[in-house]
Parts: sequence; C-alpha cells; structure tokens
Amino acid sequence: MTALLDVTALDAFYGDFQALFGIDFELREGEAVAVIGANGAGKSTMLKSLAGLVRNRPDSIRFSGRPIGDAPAASIVRLGLALVPEGRQLFPSLSVEENLLIGAYGGERTTPWDLAAVYRMFPVLKERRRGAVTALSGGQQQMVAIGRALMSNPSVLLCDEISLGLAPIVVEDIYRMLPQIRAGGTAVVLVEQDIARALRAADRFYCLQEGRVTLSGRPNDVDQETIRAAYFGT
Ligand code: ATP
Repeated sequence: MTALLDVTALDAFYGDFQALFGIDFELREGEAVAVIGANGAGKSTMLKSLAGLVRNRPDSIRFSGRPIGDAPAASIVRLGLALVPEGRQLFPSLSVEENLLIGAYGGERTTPWDLAAVYRMFPVLKERRRGAVTALSGGQQQMVAIGRALMSNPSVLLCDEISLGLAPIVVEDIYRMLPQIRAGGTAVVLVEQDIARALRAADRFYCLQEGRVTLSGRPNDVDQETIRAAYFGT
C-alpha cells in the first residue's frame, strides 16, 4: 500500500545551518506515529517541513504520491495536512469560536469535522465559545488549537508538543481524544518530549537526534534502554 506521507532523504536548512539530514519517514492512512527526541533534535523542523513552513526539495516529501516538498503552506492545508503548532499560536483578540472558524478551509475530504463535531468532542469550548480565547486555561487553549486544525478536515494532523506546559491530568484529557480523531479517518503525527506519553499513543515511532533518525519501530518491539540510547546518543 502506498504511504499517505512518504518522506525520503529529507534535508532541511535555516540559511546555512542544516537542521535535518537525510530523514526517511512514512505515515500510512489512519496511523498514529510519534516523533521523539531531545531539545533541538529537529522534531519541529520536520513538522514544519511537512506543513510547508520550511521549504525543501519537491520530491523529498510526497503526499498521496504527489510531491509537496516545496509547496506553500496554504496549499498543503487544502491538500489535507493540518498543523497544531508548538505554543498553540491562537489569535488573542478573537473569541473561541472565531479561532475555530479560522481553521475551516472547506476542503472536499470526507472527515467529519465542523463546529458541532469539535464542540461534541470538547464540550467546554461550546460553553465558552463567545468568550475571549485568552480567558481559557492552557489545556482549553490547546483544545482550541486542535479543534482549529481539525476544522480543515485533514487526513493528517501534525501535533507539535501538545502536552508542553500542561498538567498531567489535562494531558490525559487531550490524549483521550486521539482515538476519536483517528476514527474519523485522520492520521496523526505526534511530536513530543514526553516520550512515555507519545509511545503509549503511537502505532510506530521515530527517534531523532541532531537532525537524524537514530531509531524507528513499534513501541512494544523496542526496549526502554534502546530508546534511551537513541534519544540521548549514548
Ligand atoms: P524543541 O523541542 O526545542 O522544539 P526540536 O527537536 O523541535 O526542539 P527544532 O526546533 O526543529 O528542534 O530545531 C532543530 C535545530 O534547528 C536546532 O539546532 C535549532 O536551534 C535550529 N533552528 C530551529 N529553528 C531555527 C530557525 N528559525 N533559524 C535557525 N535555526 C533554527
């Protein structure tokens, strides 16, 4: 079966600085894949490359067979890849509902997300829909960021550190929604520093270290020591 996302020998640069070196990665339909690694390993750069925020060679990233490595971010969202960015990046002057509506690109895909579906998944956002997004707790703001991305009805949801800075119980609440998101036909890429959390949720994982994949596989097939070594480079 062809992968939904097929990344081959991906190099990424910020000016002269090379952040990624020959990354190979694939994501199949409906899968949840974790990308783990220490600070600066290149996780965000990889997601930004997939989302069109860092430009790459066209054929280094294929989405349903189509080269998108140099496609602009707006067209990548329309194709069906949506990013939940690190730090959420909500619009502080807008209400909860206005923030969600900004994500609605009206694609022609068949995943079921609209305002009503987002509110069913996160009822607290419906209660607070007219209020300022800045009045929400960190966890609720993360729900808005996820809801906003789902509003484009993506076939791939790219999540950049959705647990960062949140209390463990709130992180559990947010992760509890993943099966529902996947049941709607959306595959998920989880970039996380919380290795245990990410591995529990993922079918497969990739470990990055200094811009390279040092390990990949299924969480249950690899022991903790091997993962530690790949993560820290020891
Ligand atoms: P973190 O968990 O800290 O977000 P990360 O694994 O996501 O780390 P990246 O943010 O992808 O790592 O960074 C990879 C490398 O690229 C780091 O050395 C970082 O300093 C560098 N980098 C990231 N963004 C830029 C930028 N805009 N300009 C220059 N270098 C950058």
